Amino acid sequence: MSGAAFLMAINFAIASLLAAAFVTIALYDRSRIAAKYFAGGYVLGAAYFGVEFLIPMLIGGNRSVLLGYALFLAALVVFNRGLARLYRVRMPWKVVAAIFVLSILAKVASDQLPRESFTRMMIYQLPYFVMQTIGAGIIFASAKRRPIDFVLASLLTVTAIHYIMKPVVALQAGGVGSSPSHYASTLYAFIGQTTGAILSVAVALLLMVILVRDLLAEITIRSETDPLSGLFNRRGFELRFERLLQATESKGLPISLVLCDLDHFKSVNDTHGHAGGDRVITAFADVLRAATLPNHVVARIGGEEFAVVLPGCNLAAARLFAESVRISLGELQVETLPDDARFTASFGVAERTRDEASEAVHYRADAALYHAKDAGRDRVRASIADGTRTGKMIGEDRKPAYGGTLSFPGAASAHS
Ligand code: GH3
Ligand code: MG
Ligand code: MG
Repeated sequence: MSGAAFLMAINFAIASLLAAAFVTIALYDRSRIAAKYFAGGYVLGAAYFGVEFLIPMLIGGNRSVLLGYALFLAALVVFNRGLARLYRVRMPWKVVAAIFVLSILAKVASDQLPRESFTRMMIYQLPYFVMQTIGAGIIFASAKRRPIDFVLASLLTVTAIHYIMKPVVALQAGGVGSSPSHYASTLYAFIGQTTGAILSVAVALLLMVILVRDLLAEITIRSETDPLSGLFNRRGFELRFERLLQATESKGLPISLVLCDLDHFKSVNDTHGHAGGDRVITAFADVLRAATLPNHVVARIGGEEFAVVLPGCNLAAARLFAESVRISLGELQVETLPDDARFTASFGVAERTRDEASEAVHYRADAALYHAKDAGRDRVRASIADGTRTGKMIGEDRKPAYGGTLSFPGAASAHS
């Protein structure tokens, strides 16, 4: 077996192993559609090596060349489909289909030319160049471009260029061989198979790193998100609160924390059922979302307890914010629940003082929330740092928005 034939066998093994790796990723996470296409691309790539090189070498004959050619082009098409999916770019199907059909026709027509003809070699390689360039173009067209994506796009560009360099190399290295079976013993085949192997392994490894990185990013987001409301959960809140405390401190900006807890929620569940209670939670989450800006952090940190971090807001602004949410909640109508069902919440507000730790701010906001509950619920209380743990409580005793009469039984007398 010649060196190049040995390399072809190695390439077949590499393509098969990469196909197996992508199939494993696709099976592991069935929602990762891009991995399925990459798996399909590498399966077709392995089939190409089998059909074009291994079968003729084993049983002779060169009819399989056209099939191999079509298989490799199809592999690139499927691979590009995976890239389009991964980078959320529309696949230029019409262009791709036209290139595919024209390439097969041109390949059949070019068989009339001598094997060593530069034009014939170019007709063979040009579609590969175009398909791989489309792959790089898909990445460049996407909005999701980080350094690693740029590296992948560059690598695909190098791979594309390597195809149209092949006819030049063939002429320099003494030709492509007098027949498909002779090809395997040429220096050209040796060079082509080596570069092809290195480039395809590099592309596959980069893709795997990108897929794994995306998977990790998704898992991180999931671990910091509350599935019911779509808000951050306690973990997501704590991480961001800590980060915002540092950011506002370095910029010399104020920052406040608002904690809110829906009132008499046990009675809400008793009256409207647990599913009804869930709808109240999501509706309240929507109220908070609508009341906040993109740089605010809104989280559901407990069953019916929420936190809002307001960077750039002092205590007065945060109290106004809490008051406006309280009033909006009074007007809230929850889908599928009776029109006259009304819900209230209590709020605790604290502004961070210089160097105060996140836990200390949280403790004061919680103490203020407790005071709001104790004073009759449906109100806002704030803590002013005064050296004590809870701080000094402030907040006018407003008349509750609905006269303190809630629409569910036992609400007025319920205490917990
Ligand atoms: P308070 O005004 O003092 O806050 O009274 P409360 O009834 O809201 O007090 P407590 O915090 O003791 O009860 C909260 C209730 O919220 C208890 C629990 O059954 C309910 N709850 C917690 N998580 C969920 C949830 O995800 N969905 C629903 N429907 N209910 C929940
Ligand atoms: Mg409650
Ligand atoms: Mg609670």
